[in-house]
Amino acid sequence: MTTKTHKNYIAGEFISSDHLFDNINPIDGSLISRVAEADQAMVDNAVLAAVKASSGEWSAISLSERCKVLRKIADGIDARFDEFVEAEIADTGKPYEHASKIDIPRGAENFRFFSDLAKTVSTECFEMDTPDGNGALNYAIRKPMGVIAVIAPWNLPLLLLTWKLAPALAMGNCIVAKPSEETPSTATLLAEVIHDAGVPPGVFNLLHGFGPNSTGEYLTKHEDIDAITFTGESATGSEIMRVAAKDVKSLSFELGGKNAAIIFEDADFEAAIEGTMKSVFSNCGQVCLCSERVYVHESLFEKFVLELKKRAEMLVENWPEGQSMNLGPLISQEHRKKVLDCFNRAINEGGKLITGGGVPKFSDTRKAGSWVEPTIFTGLGEEASLLTDEVFGPVCHISPFSAENEVIDTVNSTKYGLAAAIWTKDLQKGHRVSKQLEVGVVWVNTWFLRDLRTPFGGIKLSGIGREGGLHSLDFYSELTNICIKL
Ligand code: NAD
Repeated sequence: MTTKTHKNYIAGEFISSDHLFDNINPIDGSLISRVAEADQAMVDNAVLAAVKASSGEWSAISLSERCKVLRKIADGIDARFDEFVEAEIADTGKPYEHASKIDIPRGAENFRFFSDLAKTVSTECFEMDTPDGNGALNYAIRKPMGVIAVIAPWNLPLLLLTWKLAPALAMGNCIVAKPSEETPSTATLLAEVIHDAGVPPGVFNLLHGFGPNSTGEYLTKHEDIDAITFTGESATGSEIMRVAAKDVKSLSFELGGKNAAIIFEDADFEAAIEGTMKSVFSNCGQVCLCSERVYVHESLFEKFVLELKKRAEMLVENWPEGQSMNLGPLISQEHRKKVLDCFNRAINEGGKLITGGGVPKFSDTRKAGSWVEPTIFTGLGEEASLLTDEVFGPVCHISPFSAENEVIDTVNSTKYGLAAAIWTKDLQKGHRVSKQLEVGVVWVNTWFLRDLRTPFGGIKLSGIGREGGLHSLDFYSELTNICIKL
């Protein structure tokens, strides 16, 4: 059987390149496909195509026509649902449950959601007094920003790419997108769907490749890119910001996290355990919102550690379609090495390993995959690297606390500020503590419950700006105020 090659999509055409790299399945290390890395000339061509298209019909057609096209893209994803699910699973190894209930449906929903929202938003209008008594009228209009670079990570590949793409297209922009080198497949399928939906050539371009000294860097450096929207590691965000500074490009950043879960003494114990299992181990801990720091009231500490250990040991590291599939592999061998290094450092720093810490034993081809055991530590101080640096794996550290103020200060004493989860039956406490946490998203008695209209993003090292609902439309459009003297 010949190996499939993922091509770039530039100016409405699928184009290969001289340099192909391997796309590896993290379940068993097998080769899934080869990927055409876009070089500098291809990046230039894609940006040029987007620049040309941005002065063409896309931004000029009515908003309602553009929104119809977005819905057609959503329908196109639905029509090829099984292909998308299969491709996402092959690239990431994630459970069928996850890909078929979250990744792909949410990818399609992003287009429907922003299509509906874009048609209903208003802009500001102010009547003002003038000395002659006739007054003036101010009103704002939304215009596209121009050409937007969309750079996406590998953990929720289609979902996070479309989360940016849909509002950017709705606002009339043209796009050059780059998925992660680890997960090129659903992005390529999406380019086919967008092509078939009749989006004019150049409006959406897709480039494959790596970050530094490759496609990602060439794209973010390009002087004809007007804005960059990026989800990924904080260190990458910092590098992109440095490169973008020269042309003062607009930036939207969703970056890393070191999120806390707080379990108060009055929490519904079962709900807190179940919620923390999800917030620590979902997607093998590879969600930016996952809790890596768990703080449990001292009265519950021992019981909580024992129960979380018991449930973690019940997780099954299985093939994606497996009956009792709970946990997939990490994305790559390289990432597994990073995660295992974090575990070893935690042990060297005096951490107590409660469960996991190593690589599961398999007697089949999974031996060549990127699996790691679900892992729990206790016993470390706040200065330990496991509590300061993002791991992005199936791991948490559990610490006891005694007082509300103390735990708030501890949770805030981090360089990150993305999300937190609080477990308590006392809603006054829920409100009071939520307000004091230095994060962009707080969940009380739940985790990862998302209303797409709400602001989403982080502070400190976790990002710049907010996405979601109107916040996305604001980033992807320029407002011009028109003042008319009456
Ligand atoms: P990453 O930063 O390594 O890569 C993300 C993307 O940036 C990839 O497409 C990569 O090729 C590209 N890239 C890398 N270096 C670049 C450079 N110098 N110039 C331009 N592009 C470059 O991140 P990752 O490992 O793919 O994703 C995991 C990270 O993403 C974690 O830190 C996680 O917390 C974060 N994340 C954040 C959110 C959020 O909403 N805040 C969501 C998902 C993931």
